[in-house]
Amino acid sequence: MDKLDTVVIGAGVVGLACARALAQAGREVMIVEQEADIGQHTSSRNSEVIHAGIYYPAGSLKAQLCVAGKELLYRYCAERAIPHQRIGKLLVAVSDADAPRLAALQDKAAANGVHDLQWLDAAALRQREPALQAHAALLSPSTGIVDSHALMQALLADAEHAGALLALASPIVGGAVSADGIVLTLADGYQVLARQVINAAGLWAPTVAGRIHGVPRETVPQAHYARGVYFALGGKSPFSQLIYPLPEAGGLGTHLTLDLGGQARFGPDVEWIDGVDYSVDPQRAERFYSSIRRWWPALPDAALAPTYSGVRPKITGPGQPDADFVIQGAAVHGVPGLINLYGIESPGLTACLAIAERVLGLCRSSR
Ligand SMILES: Cc1cc2nc3c(=O)[nH]c(=O)nc-3n(C[C@H](O)[C@H](O)[C@H](O)COP(=O)(O)OP(=O)(O)OC[C@H]3O[C@@H](n4cnc5c(N)ncnc54)[C@H](O)[C@@H]3O)c2cc1C
Repeated sequence: MDKLDTVVIGAGVVGLACARALAQAGREVMIVEQEADIGQHTSSRNSEVIHAGIYYPAGSLKAQLCVAGKELLYRYCAERAIPHQRIGKLLVAVSDADAPRLAALQDKAAANGVHDLQWLDAAALRQREPALQAHAALLSPSTGIVDSHALMQALLADAEHAGALLALASPIVGGAVSADGIVLTLADGYQVLARQVINAAGLWAPTVAGRIHGVPRETVPQAHYARGVYFALGGKSPFSQLIYPLPEAGGLGTHLTLDLGGQARFGPDVEWIDGVDYSVDPQRAERFYSSIRRWWPALPDAALAPTYSGVRPKITGPGQPDADFVIQGAAVHGVPGLINLYGIESPGLTACLAIAERVLGLCRSSR
């Protein structure tokens, strides 16, 4: 059986960021990915927004790692020439009844260390975005967009430059905790013994942990899946910034994002499903039209085309409060060397470098 210092399970943006941090810290790292290429799941099925850190409960990992991750990500994108843009976002109160929630979000953001939000009234909004119909908005100047594929390529290149190896088409199907570390079994029967295992398997992180014999079952959360579909806007966007209505249960609301080419898309909505299924039902457009026309009444008929979907790796179900990110080490599950990353939904893309720093810190403190 081969022996390795560290195995990172999953080559999404979080696994790659962790692999980079660990390899650059001098660890011998192997990344194992079930798919034939990197970033085939949530990391390439999202809004590609660099979030400011507005929404999350003060002191939560989501708040801390989003705010820290945003700064790290902007710096990294600049250093590595990763396409990105600090485009800004408008968080809108459609009617005066929404205004108290908007004000509460401004307070929440301040508690998270986000102090740059600007309150815009209807007149200021009309000047900035004439097509937008809203009572008021918060302008978030530090919200941006990033090319998630270029980001993942850069993280992988850094990790490989520091000596990490990537094994594609290599699903982990089982494992066992032993006295010397964790034995992982791949689908072809190959086994590897690792002193440190980072479970960054995203939607399958609970499944992977549950398959490692010796991990206490009560420490593995149940996986829940909330799909969000996107519809592209045909033609030119009338908006120059990202437009977000107020958050809804399970997600941030059906918002408008722009890609780096200026193409507008709307989404994601929230639909609880039983497993990972990326199909897009074109019928869902009906709800998009009515929801978007609350703040953009001029949205033309037949302007929306179904594009893609992503599935949120939830660890709480419908009707339950949103969970925080979980970065779970031996203090919780009792298995030396194992770090499980659960519930890394939004803002996981923004936070990836900060999550990696946290994981590296946990690895160092456990030696
Ligand atoms: C609809 C949607 C919109 C979002 N929008 C944003 C946004 O705008 N901004 C933001 O900051 N965040 C956003 N997010 C969140 C962000 O996309 C995720 O937090 C992030 O991509 C998670 O990365 P990951 O590496 O943990 O997971 P993934 O990208 O899912 O990677 C996990 C990897 O593990 C692999 N894997 C799984 N099981 C195994 C196994 N047994 N063996 C080997 N490999 C395995 C998978 O194939 C996959 O490649 C959004 C998420 C969704 C769903």
